[in-house]
Amino acid sequence: MGNPEKAKRTAPKSAGGTAEGRFLSIIDSHSIANRRSGDNIFQTIKSKVTTREAAEFYGLKVGRNGMACCPFHPDRNPSLKVDERFHCFGCGADGDVIDYAAKLFHLTNIEAARKLAGDFEIHISEKAFRPIRSPAAKQGQTDCRVNEKFERWRSWAISVMKMYVNSMQGWKERFAPKSEAEEWNPLFMESLSNLDAYNYFLDVLCYGSEAEQRAFFLEMKEVIRNLDRREQKWNRESAARRPA
Ligand SMILES: [Zn+2]
Repeated sequence: MGNPEKAKRTAPKSAGGTAEGRFLSIIDSHSIANRRSGDNIFQTIKSKVTTREAAEFYGLKVGRNGMACCPFHPDRNPSLKVDERFHCFGCGADGDVIDYAAKLFHLTNIEAARKLAGDFEIHISEKAFRPIRSPAAKQGQTDCRVNEKFERWRSWAISVMKMYVNSMQGWKERFAPKSEAEEWNPLFMESLSNLDAYNYFLDVLCYGSEAEQRAFFLEMKEVIRNLDRREQKWNRESAARRPA
């Protein structure tokens, strides 16, 4: 380590063998496309506004060659390429216009889509933004108790993940390497590899179909439990450090 090029290559993308990686591949294979094409909010926005247009609208100065100083890491020499999509050669930030707005304003993808639609006056029916009803709401009364339990788990899981996403957003700024030579902080690397995935998981639990939410529960319940334990441990430790 000590070599940022090397650290970049070995930083996990979305961690293949982990539960996160497994869940992403399950859900990739069948339902993202369907869900997203249902009302096609994401496609509509991407077809109307490029990342470059949005980035400039939100204050980024883009050179004639499409390069800009990256807003996602301390960047003195332009290392962000921005066009239809964006990619940073410094910190690895990458994505489309929705990802850009989500990162910039710390929003979920759905919230970012809503903001872009508003700022660029893209008409999208309110219906498209309405959360798909959760499993509990659909199944009638037969397994009411099961559903109540699932709903409780779901809102708990959402709050745990929101806290994690907030922490990662903090780490990404606080622990960003200040120089080329500096070794990458593990929490900084964790935020690079997990932030997008967890923003996406939040979308799934808030707006996903019943099948997606079930798949998420089955694949991720242990992960969320461990995340919660880790957060509680930190809270205890930071409470202990505070003077009485
Ligand atoms: Zn960057």
